[in-house]
Amino acid sequence: MGEHFDEKEIKGKLHNYTEQLVFEKLDELLNQEEYKNVCSCEKCILDMCTYALNRLSPQYVVSHKGEVYTKIKDFNQQSKVDVMSVVAKAIEVVKNNPHD
Ligand SMILES: [Zn+2]
Repeated sequence: MGEHFDEKEIKGKLHNYTEQLVFEKLDELLNQEEYKNVCSCEKCILDMCTYALNRLSPQYVVSHKGEVYTKIKDFNQQSKVDVMSVVAKAIEVVKNNPHD
């Protein structure tokens, strides 16, 4: 391991497109009136992200600085619907389980 390829280099080019969709949807929803009282500290955001990402299928793409994201933006409409409902659920769960 490590002799034939640069793990760091490879990892740097592998991106889970689902993460991008989750971040975008989380940002969009948390800006809505309905969620304005939801805590958006780093801990809560991380809890929402892990909740959602553990329930959605990853969609790995090879990318250099996000250029591939736009190309596959509309390649899976169904997954966007899933992301929307799972992220909304993640916010609800974290909202109802506040940290100290
Ligand atoms: Zn918080």
